[in-house]
Amino acid sequence: MTVVGLDDTDSRDRGMCTTYVAARIAERLRRGGTAVERCLLVRLNPAVEYKTRGNAALAIHTDADPDRAFDIARERLESLAETADERTHPGLVVTDDAPDAVADDVSAFTRQAIRDHLEIADAVALLERRGYRSWHVGDGRGRIGALAAVGAWNALSEWTTEYISYRESDRWGTPRDVDRESVFAAADRGYPDVWDTVDRGEGEAVCVPHTPGPILHGIRGDDPDAVRDVADRIESEPVASSQSFVTNQGTDVHLRKGTLESVADGRAYRVDGRVASDPETRRGGHVFVDLEGETGTCDGEPRRLECAAFEPTKRFRDRVRALRVGDRLTVCGEVARGTLKLEKFAVRDLVTTERVTPTCPDCERRMKSAGRNQGYRCRDCGTSADGKAERPLERDLERGWYEVPPCARRHIAKPLVRGGFDAPTHPER
Ligand code: ATP
Repeated sequence: MTVVGLDDTDSRDRGMCTTYVAARIAERLRRGGTAVERCLLVRLNPAVEYKTRGNAALAIHTDADPDRAFDIARERLESLAETADERTHPGLVVTDDAPDAVADDVSAFTRQAIRDHLEIADAVALLERRGYRSWHVGDGRGRIGALAAVGAWNALSEWTTEYISYRESDRWGTPRDVDRESVFAAADRGYPDVWDTVDRGEGEAVCVPHTPGPILHGIRGDDPDAVRDVADRIESEPVASSQSFVTNQGTDVHLRKGTLESVADGRAYRVDGRVASDPETRRGGHVFVDLEGETGTCDGEPRRLECAAFEPTKRFRDRVRALRVGDRLTVCGEVARGTLKLEKFAVRDLVTTERVTPTCPDCERRMKSAGRNQGYRCRDCGTSADGKAERPLERDLERGWYEVPPCARRHIAKPLVRGGFDAPTHPER
């Protein structure tokens, strides 16, 4: 077996897409009479600054001779990668190890590439140690993703699927002609095995990108036949080609268990805490709320972490606005500049009462303070109360998991509809 890993071929302004390059390499390999067992679409750390969009890296598992696979991949990369953009630094890595026999240090590198930050030198050292064939343009940063893609099959255990349909090349950069109604009807048919095809709340066909690249639509889900069926039902301009990918999208594999005391920028976490401030909507419609730890740090104050639901997360912000001081949560998201960007949260415990100024049991009037630490007294009849009264609180939230809607989902984030969560779920669709 041969594994071909590649990354960093596209440009934000000029288009292209590494999945397309991988699909073209796979096509050439098949045309040459060799089998392509699968194409992997691996999402790496979404916090990496060098990414164009979704930090994708690709691997092709084939029975082709490694030298032939290398030559074909290099030729396709040279011809298709948008190297006119100085930020595009393609990388190619090829090994004749079987995908499930790739060395442990390469799989460890994959896990690090998903959850952490790596240097080009890390990739170069490992490539040398393993003796893998490689090729690159520019600073060769793409070798990080290419090597991570090679190690992915051994590193990860949870996989989903995406079926990508590509446009005819003369249409690239023009508006996509896709029949919206057929997308919504196909999405309804495929749900819940097929998810994040549309956002019903926003009325958006999220499977159709707006970027200048070659993708017409990408259909995601748990079952390869079901995603293909949804793609086949969509009425659109001609589909030039299509390719099925095995992916780590929708798996939450970027999240690490953390504590409020330990979180650091550029990584993504699952953290427990208690709501410590009233949610606040700031300019631009972004909603912020503070979380604090259960225990004090060395200076006695519990560590606070600001959490944000940005405007593009749309109706999810209402869930965050519904939080109250004292609610216990688990929050998930990437930390950047000290703020956790919420992808989902679980309500563990809700505050269900509030303390209010007591009402006089005889006159039903609000009592007044009787002075500092002296409780409350009714001005009319003189009835007194020791302190505040507890009143039940109506809450718009329930225990369990809430998530951003499909239009705001990160590729790697796990939609609640996929199940396997440790509390009830409130999926968005
Ligand atoms: P698209 O998803 O639209 O194809 P992209 O978002 O995948 O584009 P790339 O053009 O692949 O973006 O750029 C990401 C770059 O960052 C690649 O060169 C890749 O090797 C590198 N990279 C990926 N993960 C890490 C990491 N954890 N640490 C450092 N560099 C990384």
